[in-house]
Amino acid sequence: MDKPTRDKTPLRVVVVGAGLGGCATTLALHHHGHKVVAVLDKVREFQRLGDSLGLGENAYRLLARWGCNVKEIQDIGNQSPTMKIRRWHDGKILAEQPLMDMAGYIGHRGDYHDIFLKWVRERGIPIRMGCEVVAYDDSDPSPSLTLASSEVLTADVIVACDGIKSLARHLVLGARDDPVSSGYACFRAYFEPSEEMKADPRRNAFLKQDSVNFWIGPDLHVVQNTLRGGREFNWILTHKDDGDVPESWFQPGDMEEVRRLVSDIDPAIREAIMSTEKCLDWKICYRNPLPTWVSPNSHRIVLLGDSCHAHLPTSAQGASQACESAGVLAVCLSLVDGENVKIATRAYEKLRFSRTRVSQTHGEDLRDRWHNVLKNTHEGAEIDPEMVKIKNRPLYAFDAEHDALDSWNDVATTVSQELARGNILPLTS
Ligand SMILES: Cc1cc2nc3c(=O)[nH]c(=O)nc-3n(C[C@H](O)[C@H](O)[C@H](O)COP(=O)(O)OP(=O)(O)OC[C@H]3O[C@@H](n4cnc5c(N)ncnc54)[C@H](O)[C@@H]3O)c2cc1C
Repeated sequence: MDKPTRDKTPLRVVVVGAGLGGCATTLALHHHGHKVVAVLDKVREFQRLGDSLGLGENAYRLLARWGCNVKEIQDIGNQSPTMKIRRWHDGKILAEQPLMDMAGYIGHRGDYHDIFLKWVRERGIPIRMGCEVVAYDDSDPSPSLTLASSEVLTADVIVACDGIKSLARHLVLGARDDPVSSGYACFRAYFEPSEEMKADPRRNAFLKQDSVNFWIGPDLHVVQNTLRGGREFNWILTHKDDGDVPESWFQPGDMEEVRRLVSDIDPAIREAIMSTEKCLDWKICYRNPLPTWVSPNSHRIVLLGDSCHAHLPTSAQGASQACESAGVLAVCLSLVDGENVKIATRAYEKLRFSRTRVSQTHGEDLRDRWHNVLKNTHEGAEIDPEMVKIKNRPLYAFDAEHDALDSWNDVATTVSQELARGNILPLTS
């Protein structure tokens, strides 16, 4: 598997979206011998957006196999060996776990993205910025897409890594789908601590070295971590939300509301949050599991990443699962010739759906355990650490590409039978 798997004529692939998912898809396809003719993104220039993002060992394994120097990412990630899960009001440590049990290395999404983009460019693959896809045509055997400029591109396969608000998802589903509120929202702040903050004992407790901490309470939790060796500071407050904040990474947050919510949090972190000048308000939306990730007519337009399997932040697996999906799609495509692309794409969705459901539900389970464990618990009660621990570790041993190869004969047989019957079974009812 360290070697590319394809020995047939390369498939010509267009990747829509140059986020982490689109970059990973490009790297995987390239490694497995396909020709990525273009990676398209609608923005003219990438900015350093978002804040902390984790990449797990399940992603590193694949990236390294595709020839990427993953040390570049590990070096800029948070170096704290452990993370601490604390009681909301006094910071008592309820559990301490290796960082690798959750997110692997946590870094700034923008910094990681820069490295992914560099890896794509190093392979000579063009990333075309300012190219917004406005329409898809699901013709077999040459699907196409139209850009806002009216340019039309055709390919053997189009992979839509176009994020949570995916346009391609409408084509694949045959209808628009609305976001589903998770019932929670996050206030998020990311900043460089001032010299004054660094010197203030009421605010600098978690600045002295790389740290990752969680404070859990009834129906809310705070995540805090440092980045870039303590030069940058991030807190994220997740709380119940029945408001109508739009699904956006740019919505300004109400610091007065933040101060009200953290008024009784552990004093060791309280002032660092209270004194923050501004934050973002991010409604946590997701989509119900989709019945299909592949276009109905050609079976050659495929969703990947947040467009089909967005994760809650408590999963800490959004980008890692996009890497896994990239590897599996590339392997499946390498096992068919050009006429049988549909077997590969339909095998890909079957292989990936159940796996991503596991990592998605891990995040829901963790959030619910954290938000409920201290309800109706009296002050002196001992909490079993297992009740609050992050249980992602089993996700990391999985080698998505090896699994795809091992499962190929069975899944390809199932898909072939479904195609022969003209009845592709939905991924979910
Ligand atoms: C702005 C932003 C900030 C984020 N911050 C965090 C964070 O702090 N922590 C975290 O864990 N996760 C964060 N995420 C989510 C995380 O990046 C994803 O879960 C993961 O990287 C997989 O994403 P993706 O590549 O599938 O989609 P995305 O990262 O959403 O990338 C989709 C790309 O497709 C492009 N695109 C969309 N529509 C079109 C179109 N019609 N034509 C051409 N291009 C199009 C977009 O410009 C974008 O670059 C963030 C996502 C975004 C978009």
